[in-house]
Amino acid sequence: MSSHTLTSLRRRSVKAAAVAVATGALLAGSIQIGATTASAAPLRLPTIGNVQLQLPAGPFLPGIDIPAFPATPEAATTQWTPPSAEKWTPAPKLLAPAPAPEPQAAPIPAPMPLPIIVPVPPPVVQPVAGFLTSSYGPRWGTHHNGIDIGANLGTPIFSAAGGVVINAGPASGFGQWVRVLHDDGHITVYGHVDTFTAGVGDRVATGQQIATVGNRGQSTGPHLHLEVWDPAGTQVDPLIWLHDSGVVVNW
Ligand SMILES: [Zn+2]
Repeated sequence: MSSHTLTSLRRRSVKAAAVAVATGALLAGSIQIGATTASAAPLRLPTIGNVQLQLPAGPFLPGIDIPAFPATPEAATTQWTPPSAEKWTPAPKLLAPAPAPEPQAAPIPAPMPLPIIVPVPPPVVQPVAGFLTSSYGPRWGTHHNGIDIGANLGTPIFSAAGGVVINAGPASGFGQWVRVLHDDGHITVYGHVDTFTAGVGDRVATGQQIATVGNRGQSTGPHLHLEVWDPAGTQVDPLIWLHDSGVVVNW
């Protein structure tokens, strides 16, 4: 500001205006600069906050009232331009922390499937405990149609395989017998039995007791006479049949 202008300010009061910006608020008004405020020293307008007030840019003529600045909101925009939206970055919102997820219980592992054990009975079993006293085949000038297993009187006799009882009772030569028709067509014969516990028509399972060892009929001592007939009606060696059926006898 030139000294000439300051001199003019001293002689004539000038209505000036000042603006304040920075915080977005517009401070406007008129500042009366009296004769006592203007001197040879440089004119220094007060400071509001950290904003230095200053006279509006000239030129203006002495004696002319300068309207308060800004006169209109449009005029304010010439002095202060809000930051553009592009330059303004909103402060990040303070978001509440996301709630912690509910702790998930560890999945319970499925139990190991237990093996399904289905007892499968052997198709054929040893029918009696004892000892072999006579084999199948020729004997004493004739043919022995079965095998003899000596055992104590009353020793349990089991059906060698599952089937249906087709005879249970008196029998010529055997005193008493039991015959079982098995599912594959074989027939087993149990002779000289002392007692029988299965009746004709009964369904018997493999290993089911059907009689007891006796000494009836043409017998020289308590024993089981065992015969096996194949489905064709032919006698077979009981030892071979048992062996072929997977039975390991302990006679
Ligand atoms: Zn015999």
